Amino acid sequence: MLGLMQDQPLLISALIEHADRHHRDGEIVSRRTEGDVHRYTWTEAAARSRQVAHALDAMLLDVGSRVATLAWNGYRHLELYFGVSGSGRVLHTLNPRLHPDQVVWIANHAEDQVLCFDTSFLPLVQAVHAKCTTIRQYVMLCDADKLPADTGIPGLIAYEAWIAGQPTTYDWPRLSESAASSMCYTSGTTGHPKAALYSHRSTILHAFASAMPDVMGLSARDSVLPVVPMFHVNAWGIPYSAAMVGCKLVFPGPALDGKSVYELIEAEGVTFAAGVPTVWQMLLGHVGPNQLKFSKLNRTVIGGAACPPAMIDAFRNQYGVDVLHAWGMTEMSPLGTLCTLKNKHLALPEDEQMKIRLKQGRAIFGVDMRIVGDDGREQPWDGKTFGDLEVRGPWVIDSYFRGEGSPLNDGWFPTGDVATIDPDGYMQITDRSKDVIKSGGEWISSIDIENIAMGHPAIAMAACIGMKHPKWDERPIVAVVKKPGQEVARDDLLKFYEGKIAKWQIPDDVVFVEAIPLGATGKMLKTKLREQLKDYRLPTA
Ligand code: ADP
Repeated sequence: MLGLMQDQPLLISALIEHADRHHRDGEIVSRRTEGDVHRYTWTEAAARSRQVAHALDAMLLDVGSRVATLAWNGYRHLELYFGVSGSGRVLHTLNPRLHPDQVVWIANHAEDQVLCFDTSFLPLVQAVHAKCTTIRQYVMLCDADKLPADTGIPGLIAYEAWIAGQPTTYDWPRLSESAASSMCYTSGTTGHPKAALYSHRSTILHAFASAMPDVMGLSARDSVLPVVPMFHVNAWGIPYSAAMVGCKLVFPGPALDGKSVYELIEAEGVTFAAGVPTVWQMLLGHVGPNQLKFSKLNRTVIGGAACPPAMIDAFRNQYGVDVLHAWGMTEMSPLGTLCTLKNKHLALPEDEQMKIRLKQGRAIFGVDMRIVGDDGREQPWDGKTFGDLEVRGPWVIDSYFRGEGSPLNDGWFPTGDVATIDPDGYMQITDRSKDVIKSGGEWISSIDIENIAMGHPAIAMAACIGMKHPKWDERPIVAVVKKPGQEVARDDLLKFYEGKIAKWQIPDDVVFVEAIPLGATGKMLKTKLREQLKDYRLPTA
């Protein structure tokens, strides 16, 4: 017997219509590439999203066609999120930090038809457009009178001219909820990048889940700042969940330095912010020395890479900001787990609570996870035994776009992360499987080693990698960046490890570097670091 409830497809267009009806005057504030601050409302965003849909119809662009963006977080990008997907096309957020050759490869692989780009990416588009074989319309995200002459890009049009005069009402199509809505390529640190192709259904379910109290806990009373780029797994879904709950949205544009982010947080009463650890490193690097405080910010989601304990500690104890440690990946839309305490943990002393907060957290309803050993057998949830982390759920990929073969293992997606899960269901990442250090048959977690170094007052950033060793196979070394004006000697830093981890896990050496190479999503790029240190020889080898 079937249930007798309405069969309404879960569609992205419904989000923007909801925000328009119920949060008419809810604010959207954007720092623009032009340098000024732009403000409008959810109702205006909805009207302009409908104009985008009309502009795509006017091009006779087929349903399912890919519309790419090279853009910072801002209101025009938001309009594309809803106008493109809502009208049945697929939003493809290209990562502008990639090498131009990679941008070309990805745009061609995705068969993008339209490319909308921020003014700051004009030189990039000029460099690549001749090699992008499928793009037939270039749109620059600017006012009509700001379009530069002689760009060399055929048919280039200004966004404002493109949507001007289009009606602000639109009949959104009743698509299948399984229809593709957006796509995102993984950074491809190994091999060619691969694309996750999200659907309307996966996006809406992910938005529902991410707004829940033990996840991001978003509400209409929040002012939300996604520092995480809209080209990094759809800014972790925040544009969708923000429309769902009708919060105020604050977009930082291209200004991601600590000072700019701090000023925006204060000026716009931001209560909730989200980003990778490197961004918060810059923010704390500005706030600390200038003795600033946050007046409204009360929580921040930190994910995409392990959040160092020193960062959780600084946010909580110096600034009264709760850190929500999150784990996920492009293939998971991206949220998988988020760390919040259970009732029984509230009575624990602060240092016991901290041990839990450091973990990547509990699975969100909708995501099923397990750890498996080398023999393919599921490992116990004892918080000690580690294994390859596998996931499944309605917002986890089934296969890659134009991919060959299934990435799944018996219906489960192997994440490439190595983790433990404790009896309360808290998952902790030990490492990416390719970053784990194997020393004398034992595994050493590079994350543990980095976290300890980052706890030293003189260290701004740390990356641990394994170096070949004749006897032990591999031994860890730690590359560190010192805080400006701070000093620490190699031996003192190595001493700092004593008592914090087992003796044999202490790195063999410290390498002082000017900077740790970062990848296109702001995460440490260990492949590049290994390349930079290819002539390095272990003192112990
Ligand atoms: P890529 O960095 O390859 O583009 P993603 O952005 O999808 O891919 O990153 C996913 C990976 O990032 C995860 O598989 C995991 O290794 C790492 N990651 C994400 N969040 C965390 C976290 N909180 N702690 C540790 N690692 C994390």
